[in-house]
Amino acid sequence: MRRLKALAECSDEPNGITRPYLGPAHRKAVDLIGTWMTDGGMSPRIDAIGNVIGRYTGIGRDAPLLLIGSHIDSVPNAGMFDGTLGVVTAIEAVSHCHAAGKRFPFAIEVAAFGDEEGSRYPSTLGGSRLLAGIFDDAILDEADARGMTRRASLAAFGCDPKSVAADGHRSERMLGYIEVHIEQGPVLESKGLAVGVVSSINGASRGMVEVRGEGGHAGTIPMRWRQDALCAAAEMILAVERRAQAEEDLVATVGHIEVPGGAVNSVSGLARFTIDVRSPSDHRRQAAIEDLTGELQAVAARRRVAIAMSFGYQAPATPCDARLSNLLADAVRSQGVSPMRLPSGAGHDAMSFRDRAPIAMLFVRCRGGVSHSPLEFASVADIDTAARTLIDFLERLAATT
Ligand SMILES: [Zn+2]
Repeated sequence: MRRLKALAECSDEPNGITRPYLGPAHRKAVDLIGTWMTDGGMSPRIDAIGNVIGRYTGIGRDAPLLLIGSHIDSVPNAGMFDGTLGVVTAIEAVSHCHAAGKRFPFAIEVAAFGDEEGSRYPSTLGGSRLLAGIFDDAILDEADARGMTRRASLAAFGCDPKSVAADGHRSERMLGYIEVHIEQGPVLESKGLAVGVVSSINGASRGMVEVRGEGGHAGTIPMRWRQDALCAAAEMILAVERRAQAEEDLVATVGHIEVPGGAVNSVSGLARFTIDVRSPSDHRRQAAIEDLTGELQAVAARRRVAIAMSFGYQAPATPCDARLSNLLADAVRSQGVSPMRLPSGAGHDAMSFRDRAPIAMLFVRCRGGVSHSPLEFASVADIDTAARTLIDFLERLAATT
């Protein structure tokens, strides 16, 4: 908890926690973490993209690699657990093993990624994508709101963007990728569980809907003549909600609507809104999108408005590995906690490794399911359970490797 508080002190804004990728606070956090890694028997390095990675050597020269990571960048006005909890827990677990003189038949690298929240540059997960060997060089030329490119920010940070290719290529055999993270949802709290095992990271689709009706005067157009785009959109939004409510683990959200030219005394001729659909199953997510497309078109036809829909962004679900997740569940049980499986509604660095290594994730209960807020909270007792679970997991993995 002391280390989490020290990281919370690293902020580019005087009030609260704001730690964007490659900012001065991120640099301070990287240096702190490097010190903790050294103290815990790891050799830290900072790679070409600003990740700090601490290596704990395994037994034997050809020992495979287990990567344990999370992120240390934050959204503006963040909480002190999102991302950092996973990094600090991993450092604690390895430090504990180091103090006990324990070595494993695999090397461990603890990674603190810097680019998970995507709050500075358009794309995200650059840090974990580099370690997974799927970094796209083109994003080095992306600019932030002030026009500063990633390339320039990396140089100012003390990194050499020219070594991206070399850092991104690793032939080492990866045993797996493990991530500890706060749940960011209310499920574990509602079940009275300190930790839980993630079954899958939900796939997501994002769409845009445009509804075109006929604008006009709010006082002069009789109700039965209207082709009100905003009223049609309202009915469509409720249809989106109803479809998601009808299915376990499916979530669908309309988070933004705009009514161009809207006014208090006008019937709306045009409305645009977004749709975000997520599910642990790609098949069920696609089925939901097909259903929604049909339902929204039916609303449009009935209300005599035109509709255009497009789902531009699609990210597949990332299932967690059965073997690693079972080991993690055994480790949870050894702490006296019933090992509940739950999907992750939010995206995580773990997604970057879906084609590179088996992944597993441990969620930690957080109060009220709140995250991306200064009110974010996880208790010392729950964090302790998470750390003990991780240490137990390492021992179980060693016994079966
Ligand atoms: Zn996070």
